[in-house]
Amino acid sequence: MAHDMRTPIESGCPDGFQYMHPVMRKNYGQWAYHEDPQPGVLVHVSHNGEKIWTVRAGTQRILDVFTLRKLCDIGDQYGEGYVRFTIRSNIEYQVADEAKVQPLIKALTDAGFVVGGTRNSVAMMSHTQGWLHCDIPGTDASGVVKSMMDELIDEFKGWNMPNRVHMTTSCCQINCGGQGDIAINVQHTKPPKINHDLVSNVCERPSVVARCPVAAIRPALVNGKPSLEVDEKKCICCGACYPPCPPMQINDAEHSKLSIWVGGNHSNARGKPTFQKLVASGIPNNPPRWPEATAVVKKILKTYKEDAKDWERMNDWIERIGWPRFFEKTGLPFTKYHIDNWRGARASLNASTHIRF
Ligand code: SF4
Ligand code: SF4
Repeated sequence: MAHDMRTPIESGCPDGFQYMHPVMRKNYGQWAYHEDPQPGVLVHVSHNGEKIWTVRAGTQRILDVFTLRKLCDIGDQYGEGYVRFTIRSNIEYQVADEAKVQPLIKALTDAGFVVGGTRNSVAMMSHTQGWLHCDIPGTDASGVVKSMMDELIDEFKGWNMPNRVHMTTSCCQINCGGQGDIAINVQHTKPPKINHDLVSNVCERPSVVARCPVAAIRPALVNGKPSLEVDEKKCICCGACYPPCPPMQINDAEHSKLSIWVGGNHSNARGKPTFQKLVASGIPNNPPRWPEATAVVKKILKTYKEDAKDWERMNDWIERIGWPRFFEKTGLPFTKYHIDNWRGARASLNASTHIRF
């Protein structure tokens, strides 16, 4: 029987141009240069002389409706009704009138928001969702971000660092997040514990077996029921088996730790990508304020600030002084686990801006 097909519902991101400030839309791709008049403020100048100011404030990634309304009200009252969010959860207000910049900053500051995060500051940490939406977190990334940024607020507000510092957290060991000048990642240190009574009802065993990167999982019969077993000598404690098989619990209050990696950077017009390296491991995953992890991050930032030359990024600085000096200067203990250049990347990842696969 012939019938009309339902038209698909478009549920992706809407076209961003309709929400752009008119000056920005008009001059899209036509900017001559931009300047940083003060921390948290950018001014872009077009080839035709038109200017637009951007004021950046940090927000938590998971915004409640009331805060969002408050931020939008500030944009309507003190800005020109246009905002955008950056990938690091900052809100940016655009205004074409310079006279609006200072009142806008004052309104944001009075409402408790922090203006900054531009140029050579510690930018807002990019992070993943943790307990709120994902099924495999080993910690709450948003909580780690809040605790650390509370301590780094002056580095966000000012231009105190040699160059910009991008930090990231991820709340499991295998998926999103976790690439930056400093990355705080979950580190499981024990293989998963299997609840054999549940495996046959909950898990598709072939998909779980296929999921393990080191082939450590085998099908097994336990108490007459189909289940799984883990070769613990092979297991690298990555946690990849937990999402398809929740009875393979790997999160553990004592043995799931945090680790800190430094020196990651994407390739750009001037340099190849650099891979981050593990510099601190086995740090307690200690909510609600994660003081041990914060202390390590502050130690690294302090050494970088004192020792790096102007405009050296974290990876440039470490490359210049060398890894042994990095550990000496930061005072972090060096163990055999710490440095590993992943040679496989040469064949499989983009190593320059020129060749793309
Ligand atoms: S880092 Fe892992 S746990 Fe966190 S949101 Fe991403 S996939 Fe989920
Ligand atoms: S934690 Fe990782 S390495 Fe260990 S069994 Fe699970 S998938 Fe395999």
